[in-house]
Amino acid sequence: MKVRQAAFSDTGRVRTHNEDSYLLREPLFAVADGMGGHEAGEVASAVSLGVLENAIPDTEAPANWLTETLKMANSAVYDAGTQTGGMLRMGTTLTAAYVTDDSIWVGHVGDSRAYLIREGEIAQLTDDHSLVGEWVRDGRLTVEEAALHPQRSVITRALGIEPDVEVDVSRVTPRTGDRVLLCSDGLTGELTDAEICRILTDEADPETAARKLVVAANEHGGEDNITVVLLEVVDAPDVTVTEDSGQADITPDARSKERGTEHATAPGLVVRNLGPGEAKGHGKPADRERQGVPGGRQFWIRFSVWAALTLVIVLGGWIALTSYISNSWYVGVHDGNVTVFKGVPEGILGFASGDVVDRTSIPVSLLPATTRTQLEEGIPADNRADAERIVENLREQSIPPTTTTTMTTTTVPIQPAPLPPGTVPP
Ligand code: MG
Repeated sequence: MKVRQAAFSDTGRVRTHNEDSYLLREPLFAVADGMGGHEAGEVASAVSLGVLENAIPDTEAPANWLTETLKMANSAVYDAGTQTGGMLRMGTTLTAAYVTDDSIWVGHVGDSRAYLIREGEIAQLTDDHSLVGEWVRDGRLTVEEAALHPQRSVITRALGIEPDVEVDVSRVTPRTGDRVLLCSDGLTGELTDAEICRILTDEADPETAARKLVVAANEHGGEDNITVVLLEVVDAPDVTVTEDSGQADITPDARSKERGTEHATAPGLVVRNLGPGEAKGHGKPADRERQGVPGGRQFWIRFSVWAALTLVIVLGGWIALTSYISNSWYVGVHDGNVTVFKGVPEGILGFASGDVVDRTSIPVSLLPATTRTQLEEGIPADNRADAERIVENLREQSIPPTTTTTMTTTTVPIQPAPLPPGTVPP
């Protein structure tokens, strides 16, 4: 298959240097958007594309080859970052197209994008590996909401951040006249898919079309580096597509039916078809900047927010705990007597015993053994009045029952015994 190619990369109107890179080395084409402080982003994008440039394509297993090559690029960027002792933490997106005899294979990590433009329609071929991209796929956000979301710049997957990375691979069976666009988010942050489609449909010359995309992005603000690689299929072979490999074709016609289908064909390889809804309408983020990579300003903003949130949670918990303790009461033992305490008994939550409020005159020794045990552990009370009620109950238990003996004397009159008959009383 033959393709015409054109590419432009521009710093934009806000940034002072360009961290994007691109590769035109037929049959390989790629865009990388680097990130990291101290110009590490430029290094990251260049290192990743250097791996692609020097790799030898495998026409027999293009999907696996793309996966493994992007994983190698990930290792190279990761190693470059760690070799500086963490001083230059860096990462990069990478979206690559591998043109074989009958297909265009797209390997992808990050939130740069690949599009297919066919007969006036545009379809996004890649998932945005970003927070809002995931929320859109989950149905939690619309594309329009995502475009304006404050966390729209947080990316969830990039090369060079972790020792290993998951790579998305998809396949297009092109037709003559199709265009495949690879671009960094400096383009999609400024232009909607419809605007991109219109420019690419109206302009016949690929080089002029690519330049017009960059010019339009700058006219909309040029907040970020803008990079486009445009391929135009000039002689697509007449092939019949089969899905025996599990790697379905992506076309504007098929995409709605195939949306969300996913086939794992090798470790780390995902072949995914996308729906048109994900290709529509992007906003114009004014402050778009990479947030997923340590070293960037946005990373530190995120770090600070998380640190502040953690502090608030810890402080809030501490305040709630101390409030609970200061409002707690219990009845226990102090110097052998029943005593009212404010606080919590010793050993509970690691706190010292509460403050003595009222030491009564009730000796614990006068109380039943079970009650003494309860007192040693502390009998909880709802408040001071409740504690005093408990004390009164204990006081009653401590008083031994008293026994009163009452003697009653009854005087019974003594009647003289009757005299025998004939006897004269004295
Ligand atoms: Mg960018």
